[in-house]
Amino acid sequence: MPIATINPATGETVRTFTPATPEEIDTAIGRAHARFAEYRRTTFAERAKWARATAELLEAEADQTAAMMTLEMGKTLVAARAEVLKCAKGFRYYADNAEQLLADEPADAAAVGAAKAYTRYQPLGVVLAVMPWNFPLWQAVRFAAPALMAGNVGILKHASNVPQTALYLADVIARGGFPDGCFQTLLVPSSAVEPILRDPRVAAATLTGSEPAGRSVAAVAGDEIKPTVLELGGSDPFIVMPSADLDAAVSTAVTARVQNNGQSCIAAKRFIIHTDVYDAFVEKFVEQMAALRVGDPTDPDTDVGPLATEQGRADVEKLVDEAVAAGAVIRCGGKRLDRPGWFYPPTVITNIRRDMPIFCEEVFGPVASVYRAADIDEAIEIANSTTFGLGSNAWTREESEQQRFIDDIEAGQVFINGMVVSYPELPFGGIKRSGYGRELAGHGIREFCNTKTVWIGSPETGDCGSGEKAE
Ligand code: NAP
Repeated sequence: MPIATINPATGETVRTFTPATPEEIDTAIGRAHARFAEYRRTTFAERAKWARATAELLEAEADQTAAMMTLEMGKTLVAARAEVLKCAKGFRYYADNAEQLLADEPADAAAVGAAKAYTRYQPLGVVLAVMPWNFPLWQAVRFAAPALMAGNVGILKHASNVPQTALYLADVIARGGFPDGCFQTLLVPSSAVEPILRDPRVAAATLTGSEPAGRSVAAVAGDEIKPTVLELGGSDPFIVMPSADLDAAVSTAVTARVQNNGQSCIAAKRFIIHTDVYDAFVEKFVEQMAALRVGDPTDPDTDVGPLATEQGRADVEKLVDEAVAAGAVIRCGGKRLDRPGWFYPPTVITNIRRDMPIFCEEVFGPVASVYRAADIDEAIEIANSTTFGLGSNAWTREESEQQRFIDDIEAGQVFINGMVVSYPELPFGGIKRSGYGRELAGHGIREFCNTKTVWIGSPETGDCGSGEKAE
């Protein structure tokens, strides 16, 4: 994959970039490693000052940054601007909370025969971040803000189709005041990830992306015995029960499916509707999906822009075409738009059987699969029947049903009467093949910390911790 900005709305290559050489990679790792030795001793107050300054710059530059993101991966300008502002919020959240989230945790000293015992969180060192293009700023910031506030330093290998956004992030973090070498972008192909991760100066890695990429990074990290966080794909269920507010459920379902032009890991992708409200839901849902305006992502009236890459559109098309050939029914959309750029319309499909690939694979585009469930047991069974376990959405006013969904859906997050959204304040991540580890909130900032147990004996008693006096 070339490292290049290719406008998905036109297919035009705007700018190409030369990948870093092995020598440049070595220099960058060396710079990061040397910086860590000093940076880990900076105070939370210093880091917070730099994080707040970065947030201010992000806000001040939001319009230009949003335009760059739209040019590189096709999300609407409105969505891109909101993403930049969310990144500012992410930096502020960790500026305000990191010290308390990483404060020493006292333990019951008497129970372990100590004068004092506690847990201390310390940074690990150089962390490699391999990131996807779909939220090109936010995905990287939700790694960078907690990692930097914890005292780690980062090296970003971003997706090859968002090089300008990747360079911008390192630049804005440096202008925010973080010392040189704290956060660097390396423009490299995915083949460079393995040697970087194997470098003894790199302590850990995080990857957000597809299952094959996650498997490959986890295998190398396993071989090197280095910790990883993996945020991989999802095929989130969106369940609607008879007691739900149907109009709210339908309009949220539309947003949950087409956000980011349908290319979000936590987009609702499978709509599982109780049979009592199935027909009413499908009618309203199809009407609203078909009414969305597809077009130029820079136009404020556009709801859905192009898919980010030509290959991405081909993958979506293949899943839809195979399903239709096997008997699934298109209720709206289903055919690529006849215009330059990688446009695919909002699409609703019903009558899907379990032997169709679309049943179990992630559809990374604005395509909604709708299923009928006879009751709550069947709804949960369908929801849990993929290998993914990222997010989940369930709509019901019945408290007992809400508890069933909370207890029995296999996912890293369950949102009741709403849609899955990432917030700095809430842990984010998946189970099963959606990955492991958590980003955001306290869980996220501790992922790349050494949880160090501290036990201090009493010099007077000479207690050695065994519960007996030392000889
Ligand atoms: P991708 O192809 O896996 O790429 C993600 C990143 O991994 C890119 O930087 C890519 O570099 C790199 N990469 C690809 N293959 C690699 C390999 N074998 N070894 C090391 N690095 C490798 O994924 P994508 O198409 O950009 O993103 C879409 C996927 O990400 C979807 O499955 C989506 O659900 C998932 N995602 C998950 C989350 C989450 O939080 N769980 C969030 C967003 C997206 P190149 O670009 O150079 O190939």
